[in-house]
Amino acid sequence: MIAQPNASHFVNGCWMEDSDGALIEVINPATGEVIAALHEATPAVIDAALAAATQAQKDWATRKPIERGRILRRAADLIRAYGESLARLETLDTGKPLQETLVADWPSGADALEYFGGLAPTVTGETIPLGGDFAYTLREALGVCVGLGAWNYPSQIACWKAAPALAMGNAMVFKPSEVTPLGALQLAEIFIEAGLPAGLFNVVQGRGAVGASLVTDRRVAKVSLTGSVPTGRKVYAAAADGVRNVTMELGGKSPLIIFDDADLESAVGAAMLGNFYSAGQVCSNGTRVFVQKGIKDAFLARLKARAEKIVLGDPMDMTTQMGPLVSAVQVEKVMGYVEGAVAQGATLICGGTRAGLFVEPTVFADVTDDMVLASEEVFGPVMAVLNFDSEEEVVSRANKTDFGLAAGVFTADMTRAHRVIGALQAGTCWINTYNLTPVEMPFGGSKMSGVGRENGKAALDYYSQIKSVYVGMGPVDAPY
Ligand code: NDP
Repeated sequence: MIAQPNASHFVNGCWMEDSDGALIEVINPATGEVIAALHEATPAVIDAALAAATQAQKDWATRKPIERGRILRRAADLIRAYGESLARLETLDTGKPLQETLVADWPSGADALEYFGGLAPTVTGETIPLGGDFAYTLREALGVCVGLGAWNYPSQIACWKAAPALAMGNAMVFKPSEVTPLGALQLAEIFIEAGLPAGLFNVVQGRGAVGASLVTDRRVAKVSLTGSVPTGRKVYAAAADGVRNVTMELGGKSPLIIFDDADLESAVGAAMLGNFYSAGQVCSNGTRVFVQKGIKDAFLARLKARAEKIVLGDPMDMTTQMGPLVSAVQVEKVMGYVEGAVAQGATLICGGTRAGLFVEPTVFADVTDDMVLASEEVFGPVMAVLNFDSEEEVVSRANKTDFGLAAGVFTADMTRAHRVIGALQAGTCWINTYNLTPVEMPFGGSKMSGVGRENGKAALDYYSQIKSVYVGMGPVDAPY
């Protein structure tokens, strides 16, 4: 074992173990090797984490926001200082190439900590004049927040949830996906080194049942999930029982619309980034690539030429551009979609085969709206190219989905670009680029892709609540 942490959980500032919990074997998807063995959280561990968070949050909420922010910014600096070793661990845990994890995963988490650390002291209420009387508002913490993470960006997700939560004076109990449990434990240690008081960021391991017991605990004020739509529906319903706040960052089947007048190389590059980065395991991917008929042949020719050059291999090798998928389960699911697309008559342009947990970058052309490949989230390196004639037609087809996470448009006509984006039903959109998610920009979905927003100033609203205070300045005028 080469990545065994000191213990399975991190609670109240310390490592914690309870070997009564079911075994979780952590597998390096590139080699199949077991790199760590952890245990699921037992009810005793879950209780300890929630008790520690409840206790620590009371004092944290009374600290000066600038002091809270300073600790978060220190944590960002530590993440940057440990950059390479954190990236290597992320690559072992997820199979993503080191050339990605060095620049995307933890670095984006550090940006979130720096950004929300800086924002913390800027949050203010308002005063409301009411004649002689007046009112004012305070923005207060919610309390204990539960974070539930998916396996595709495990450390980034932990940071994106912890940063706004802690900035606003909350505490967090975080449960990573059991497929990728290692990064969140590193974050917990880094927080302690940065000076975060014990109990404010706790990590408990486990499968869905552990998540479910966290969501329904009466001490929990808010639940933030990054996961699939089916899990989101369950977690949202469970949270509703206790009238808890939620943020739901769920899946998508996002349209990327390429008009005839688009810059061809940029459009091809964006379509590849939006389908093959992280081996396609990205929620906001533009997996329905609508290409206008006039540019279709040129687009497919350049796409095939460039996609076939993508270098698959050992993710630790800096020349590798695509690693394996995260797990055997995911590979089976993805290959099922590939076989289904062939059976339904889509034209295979390149890829379509697997070797171990590696799946070749795959492109299907002539995909139609009724094919499964055009309607379900694949979460693998499989691009569906659809043809279209007119703007009106493509907007209506792009919106014909229950998802609404993201959308993109490529065109040289800026008036059209803004008009089309205005008509698309999606929470996060791009014009002449794709999948850039800087922390300054709110991120999240509409329709069944989610509730609430991460990142940007908007995220603060989802980790705080308003208290309104009416101040009477004169005698009380009672009618009795
Ligand atoms: P899942 O929905 O399977 O799981 C998400 C998390 O919820 C995991 O930690 C999981 O635990 C936990 N969980 C599962 N069931 C329950 C339950 N009943 N109560 C509480 N917690 C539960 O997602 P994946 O991990 O498979 O991730 C892939 C999905 O995530 C994709 O659909 C993708 O679109 C979405 N995603 C969305 C993003 C966004 O921001 N919109 C970003 C990244 C991914 P365990 O895994 O241990 O069972």
